[in-house]
Amino acid sequence: MEHQQERCRRVVLVPLPFQGHITPMLQLGTILHSKGFHITIAHTQFNFPNTLKYPHFDFIALSDGVGEQTISAHNFIAVISAFNTNCKDHLRESLARMMEKEDQHNKTACIIYDEYMYFAEEVAKQLRISSIILSTSSAAKMLSYLAIPRLQNEGHIPLQDSKMLELVPGLEPLRFKDLTISYFRKLDDLLQLIANALDPRSSSSIIWNTMDCLEHSTLAKIQQEHQLPLFPLGPLHKMVPAISSSLLKEDQRCIPWLDKQSHSSVIYISLGSAASMDNKDLVEMAWGLANSEQPFLWVIRTDSRALPEAFQEAVGDRGCIVRWAPQKEVLAHTAVGGFWSHCGWNSTIESISEGVPLICQPYYGDQRVNARYLTQVWGVGLEWENDMNRGDIEGAIRRLMVGKEGELIRQRAKDLKDTIKSSMNQGGSSYNSLNELVDLILSF
Ligand code: UDP
Repeated sequence: MEHQQERCRRVVLVPLPFQGHITPMLQLGTILHSKGFHITIAHTQFNFPNTLKYPHFDFIALSDGVGEQTISAHNFIAVISAFNTNCKDHLRESLARMMEKEDQHNKTACIIYDEYMYFAEEVAKQLRISSIILSTSSAAKMLSYLAIPRLQNEGHIPLQDSKMLELVPGLEPLRFKDLTISYFRKLDDLLQLIANALDPRSSSSIIWNTMDCLEHSTLAKIQQEHQLPLFPLGPLHKMVPAISSSLLKEDQRCIPWLDKQSHSSVIYISLGSAASMDNKDLVEMAWGLANSEQPFLWVIRTDSRALPEAFQEAVGDRGCIVRWAPQKEVLAHTAVGGFWSHCGWNSTIESISEGVPLICQPYYGDQRVNARYLTQVWGVGLEWENDMNRGDIEGAIRRLMVGKEGELIRQRAKDLKDTIKSSMNQGGSSYNSLNELVDLILSF
């Protein structure tokens, strides 16, 4: 790394403002800050973070014209498209003003943008600075996106109901039902969004919150297609001192509760920031948990009042329910032995970095791709594909937490944790990727 102190350079970060995307971008900012860069976060007014939590960053608030909305799979595409249309001019003008005041020792080196905030690439080009993409999901998801034109040519898209359980040629072990496009009805809009997110345009490289040891062959295939340097830096949350980027308030009361539980005994249940169970499924889950006789920590973002009183009486202190947990701390706690997860990529990475095996209940987006890799490729999870009923839920929890099969899965999860840890140590792949990225930014 060359003359870091003499050339204090600024990096502008443009996150997609949803929980699962903000977190890895802020983690990346913290890592780059620790390497001597000044960091400016250009963030939409939508979900604008509490800047007091990040005194080491500068912030620009972008007018996005979106207003307050609850994000779900149903408005996701429209909202992203609005960000890309509405934020462009504001970002360009703000950065141009900022850059006018810079001296030669403090210059903006580049913009790093979330793959879905592709308008930032155009702004970088107009301002004659470099740009880098941050992909906050798995390489496997991107590979499945890159296959779309071929699958269209081969006549597989639009997907046919009768073929949903068949393996996708060239993407095994994914089945057609595992593809992101299988969930969305407005296929044209989604395909356009994917095409925009996939096109690197003039960007110089792609940063990933994944590890070479986890997705080596997938990353190699992507590199062949894109011909760009790829920097797998994950797990980002383990490369920095803990920062909390939660949009919701973390309920810390679950930590003393975990302290009282025995080693590896607790099943943690959380579906991330967007997916949720309807009331009927919540009740089935509740009785599945009660009947499994395992201690549990359950995140119910919506409303736990739907739970039957008899359930609360049956479980007593054996269960702890919160609206939002300090998840990284929870997964790192020695009492936690399993994670019932929707398999968002952050939850996936956070779980496998701590050696916690999963029950995978994917909902939409890339979650099915992640679930498939967790269960079929890395062998650290059980796949949940049934309708929610208490008997099967109880059975799945017991299989993971107390059965022979669970023991094998837990061992594989521990081995994977060790491999991931090595990738962060000096000479490991994530460690090296980070140094290469820093050198690249300094070369701009
Ligand atoms: N999370 C948390 N507390 C909770 C539930 C989730 O801090 O109670 C965090 C979790 O650690 C992860 C993020 O929210 O970093 C969820 O991201 P993910 O990609 O797993 O799913 P998404 O919310 O994007 O569907």
